Amino acid sequence: MDFSKPDNARVINKLKVLSELRSGEYSRAELSRRVGINKVSIGDMIQDLIKEGLVTEGKKDSTSSGRPGTLVSINRNACRAFAFDIRSRSVSVSASDAMGKVLRFERFPRNEETEGLVKRAIERMSAGENIRICGSAVTGYDSAISDSLFPQPVAYIPRVIAEASAELASSRTLENCLFLSWSDSFDAAVIKENLIHLPTLPHMKAQKDGQCECGGRGCLEVAASGKALLERTGAASVRDLVRNTGYASAIKEVLRPIAMALSEAVQATAVSSVIITGELSQIPDSAYAYLEGLLNSLLPPARKMTVSRALSGEKGTREGAAVAALNLFFYRTDLLKRLETIENPGYVL
Ligand SMILES: [Zn+2]
Repeated sequence: MDFSKPDNARVINKLKVLSELRSGEYSRAELSRRVGINKVSIGDMIQDLIKEGLVTEGKKDSTSSGRPGTLVSINRNACRAFAFDIRSRSVSVSASDAMGKVLRFERFPRNEETEGLVKRAIERMSAGENIRICGSAVTGYDSAISDSLFPQPVAYIPRVIAEASAELASSRTLENCLFLSWSDSFDAAVIKENLIHLPTLPHMKAQKDGQCECGGRGCLEVAASGKALLERTGAASVRDLVRNTGYASAIKEVLRPIAMALSEAVQATAVSSVIITGELSQIPDSAYAYLEGLLNSLLPPARKMTVSRALSGEKGTREGAAVAALNLFFYRTDLLKRLETIENPGYVL
């Protein structure tokens, strides 16, 4: 896109306004200040955005001194984003509004009827609403499911990226943090300026033995994944592992290999905190304290790490996938990010 063309500049300014409104509702004057566009242009743009059904106008702003303006906010019904989480035993479908709030959620077991059930769920979730579907985000995709099932356009993203997006959306100041997704299997990502996927972390050496599917031995994946824990304990599901206190000692045992792998990873990535996401992030606070202690005992004394549980818990995957779909297909945050590097030559190497 050529940003010097007036039409494109207009699109970019609209995206900037929409992006700003995701963090709260503002008067035109406040938006003009925040986005750095003069009040007249902001006024015109808001009129256009209202006509297009992307924003709505609500109550008067009581916080400002002087003549109060009405507050502008995102029209939650401007679009719907779909998220699909494909797991070995289930498929879940959710529909979210334009602010990423999950409105509907359904989960189906995987068998020969799954695709039919998912298709009908999509129809149910969009029926009766004349609302545009901006796209879908799919986590955990495997080719046994037909990709024509998902409303287009589709983004296939690692589950940990979705979970990290949910955390970043709920805590915008989060930075320099490593996300470890702990469910059936492990996955990891770090947030620096962007989210970076770390698919090798599950295959870091965490114990002496145990053949891994990757060909290596003693990987974190064989030592401590949900799948490994299920095999070892005979628990019915990963959720059962967390809810049933009878498995507490089995979980405590695998915190050491996790601390081992993390100690390598946090030094290599120079992060200052670790957040655990995924189903197994729901282990008790005492397990977090123990893991944090183990990790710090393996690190040089000057490096103190905190290890905490994801705020969004089990809902993180679908909430984060919705945010990712909205970022990509509705708010076009990729365009804005690219523009930032053009506008600010300090970043250009
Ligand atoms: Zn491996």
